[in-house]
Amino acid sequence: MADEIRFDGRVAVVTGAGGGLGRAHALLLASRGAKVVVNDLGGAMDGTGSDTTPAQRVVDEIKAAGGEAVANYDSVSEWESAQRIIQTAIDNYGKIDILINNAGILRDRSMLKMSIDDWNIVIAVHLSGTFFCTKAALPYMRENNYGRIVSTASAAGLYGNFGQTNYGAAKLGIAGLMNSVKLEGAKYNIKANTLVPIAGTRLTATVLPPNVVEKLKPEYVSPIVAYLCSEQCELSGAMLVAGGGYFSRAAVCEGPGVFFDDPDSMTVEDVAAKMQEITSLEGAVEYDSATAQTMHALSHMKMD
Ligand code: NAD
Repeated sequence: MADEIRFDGRVAVVTGAGGGLGRAHALLLASRGAKVVVNDLGGAMDGTGSDTTPAQRVVDEIKAAGGEAVANYDSVSEWESAQRIIQTAIDNYGKIDILINNAGILRDRSMLKMSIDDWNIVIAVHLSGTFFCTKAALPYMRENNYGRIVSTASAAGLYGNFGQTNYGAAKLGIAGLMNSVKLEGAKYNIKANTLVPIAGTRLTATVLPPNVVEKLKPEYVSPIVAYLCSEQCELSGAMLVAGGGYFSRAAVCEGPGVFFDDPDSMTVEDVAAKMQEITSLEGAVEYDSATAQTMHALSHMKMD
């Protein structure tokens, strides 16, 4: 058997860990030795209200199993309250090694019916919440030359989903955010990856049939999250899909494209004639930064 992956001496913050996926991640990390800050605002699925019970219940579960955890009830969606979440780790355990950005809500409506409030609150919780918690944690991770960040995106962002323009935009925004955190954190041994989960939780109970919700246990997603949070993880900037025993990697890639030697003379019709080649993904590659992509795009340009 492979060596056990453990988190002894490690401090983790899991946002939105009062239920669903966050709870499963927190329980798994704690069962393997991590000290865990269990954050949860405890509101309704649409982001209204608050309740200390869910976070406290998970802390009690962790402690009952012999683990170590502390609750925090702040919202990820404001800079001040997000700082308090990270501060809870510092005050109780002296550092933060692992951050799982998981808190989330839904305000599904077609764009025609979506209110500005529906847009703002979803962006605030998912995208700004991930930015705020990550920004608050980074100085401590840099200081210790160690950090593991897992942020939660969604297939709705990668591929689109009817009624989820707000959510999808926030979720792909999170993947974009992590792409740059990967670059900025590299020299401090900070790895930043993105999770694309599929699980039966209260968020999916509205769209999935009950028997599917039951089968898609959040616990099935957590092993890869724990791996991404471990010292063993060398991966950074990746998007990992996980659910129901399925694991995969999603990626943004770009086809080899077409180069016009004389851009001054090319016409709309010249471009139209090449659309098949332009849109072909045969021989597509991933770039590990915008610079690398731009270098390719400019590689045929004559610079004199
Ligand atoms: P969930 O509702 O069970 O968990 C989300 C938790 O976040 C809740 O406990 C909620 O109280 C908490 N939360 C909400 N707003 C908060 C805030 N402002 N501050 C702190 N905590 C807050 O749902 P889940 O399915 O476990 O979702 C977890 C994450 O996974 C979310 O980001 C969600 O968008 C994402 N996701 C889930 C699925 C899925 O299939 N379940 C698919 C794609 C993405």
